[in-house]
Amino acid sequence: VKVEEKLYYNRYVVDAGRPHVKVRPHEVPSQALLALTKICPAGCYALNDKGQVEVTPDGCMECGTCRIVCADTHDIEWNYPRGGFGVLFKFG
Ligand code: SF4
Repeated sequence: VKVEEKLYYNRYVVDAGRPHVKVRPHEVPSQALLALTKICPAGCYALNDKGQVEVTPDGCMECGTCRIVCADTHDIEWNYPRGGFGVLFKFG
């Protein structure tokens, strides 16, 4: 079974208007931000039509990869979702 197929079993409760991950405004994305468009396992990061990196945290698995990659560059702001929101894992 592919990872993508297993991810289908997770559920995500959106905290509307309060995203727990934000990309800091930028004109040209840093190498770290560009990397996020490739390495986020949930595909939350993407380039917009201006070539800037945007995040849609719905579906974020709270793996922390982006947080670590941008720990020194401070390109993103990352907080855990409020209680009752965010990912709900189903194992098995
Ligand atoms: Fe993607 Fe993981 Fe960052 Fe969530 S924590 S946005 S799943 S890299």
